[in-house]
Amino acid sequence: MSEYPTALQIAEGVRSGDLKAVDVVEQHLTTIADTDGEIHAFNHVMADEARERAAAVDATVAAGGDPGPMAGVPVALKDNMCTRGVPTTCSSKILAGWLPPYDATVVQRLTAAGAVFVGKTNLDEFAMGSSTENSAFGPTRNPLDTERVPGGSSGGSAAAVAAGFAPVSLGSDTGGSIRQPAALCGVVGVKPTYGRVSRLGLIAFGSSLDQIGPFTHTVADAALTLETICGHDPGDSTSIPEPAPEFSAVLDRGVDGLRIGRITDLPEGADPDVVARTDEAFAALESAGATIVDVEVPAFTYGLTAYYLIAPAEASSNLARFDGVRYGLRVDGADVEEMMRNTRTAGFGDEVKRRILLGTYALSAGYYDAYYGKALKIRRLMAEDFAAAYQQCDVLLTPSSPSVAFPFGSKTDDPFAMYLCDTYTIPANLTGDPAMSVPFGDGADDLPVGVQIIAPSLGESVMLQVAAELERSAP
Ligand code: GLN
Repeated sequence: MSEYPTALQIAEGVRSGDLKAVDVVEQHLTTIADTDGEIHAFNHVMADEARERAAAVDATVAAGGDPGPMAGVPVALKDNMCTRGVPTTCSSKILAGWLPPYDATVVQRLTAAGAVFVGKTNLDEFAMGSSTENSAFGPTRNPLDTERVPGGSSGGSAAAVAAGFAPVSLGSDTGGSIRQPAALCGVVGVKPTYGRVSRLGLIAFGSSLDQIGPFTHTVADAALTLETICGHDPGDSTSIPEPAPEFSAVLDRGVDGLRIGRITDLPEGADPDVVARTDEAFAALESAGATIVDVEVPAFTYGLTAYYLIAPAEASSNLARFDGVRYGLRVDGADVEEMMRNTRTAGFGDEVKRRILLGTYALSAGYYDAYYGKALKIRRLMAEDFAAAYQQCDVLLTPSSPSVAFPFGSKTDDPFAMYLCDTYTIPANLTGDPAMSVPFGDGADDLPVGVQIIAPSLGESVMLQVAAELERSAP
């Protein structure tokens, strides 16, 4: 819980006329103006648009109308989600000057629910990274300790909530990019089931893995945001044709009778403070009436390896469109080929180039079966192992991140050390299952620890139910 007003409180106040959306937005813009110079959560603050939207929300209330369940709630958007006419950069030089001609579906849905966008947040370039140090525009600082990273790739969105710039932000999660920064910034972060939230207007990284989800201070605010953004979208062919359930309805149910899975063959590598808080989370759920069940998920260990073939393979294909012709930057050359080479050389950062090389290699004729094909087999095994585990338990509990927030520069020279940040989050992207991080006490240097709840496909309700119990019992 935090000192900041929640989205539910703001929406209730604005809808009843007790609060003015323009005042709420002004307070948040002031906080941003005062402190974002240091934090750098935003690539772009949408001050004028936000004031205009807030005034429209107030006008609806004044006219006796209802602006919607998120009336007047300031929302920050990761800068890989399209906003019509507003710069959308993926924190990459290659999209310089590009203005999307349409709004992402999540933007449309939040707007229809009365939310007010305050800006576009910083990320690791094209969402590739775990610290936001790969942004072409410089890193975001962790509001809890500005010498440390906020996590990534959605570091700007996590920091925006933690710093009180907005009670809600959206991130995208391909291998952990919502859950890991949520853990490092001490906020709630949810990756819904693959297909629950439309990806239309999310600039693609790994299309079979990408999923949009919220950062919030409270589980109830996460449920509110999910109710707004989930649901079928014919514009995304992978969108699940199911309406969003009423997630908020389950939060008070407790965990009596639920079975919480503890993975006995979980990969090692989590710091002792993180392991201790996770054990305490199991104990808290047990004393609230849940049963702890030991399960095995053997393929969990191979998730990282499989992911770092599948995600780069998909990225190498998705990023082929940034060719100096259709979007953003163009660096001229003697002929078209040289223009494309010059553009991509100047426009992409080192990590993005590394992923394109890895992915192209994994997909190349002679190596496809050995790398990409093998990775797909692991993905299949992962799904089978999780399905077997869910025969015995309702949800699984693990650490979200192996460590608390780490200092700037401590992993930048060693890509593999950075990739290890995703050990616990990646499997749920490979299976498509919903997963979330909830703050659960502090670890080393009084920095927050997050625990991860993973649920079977479309099991957001039981996942949020457990999260609400952890929130109530957190130290
Ligand atoms: N850190 C992981 C990566 O670099 C995950 C990124 C993400 O979820 N977008 O690929």
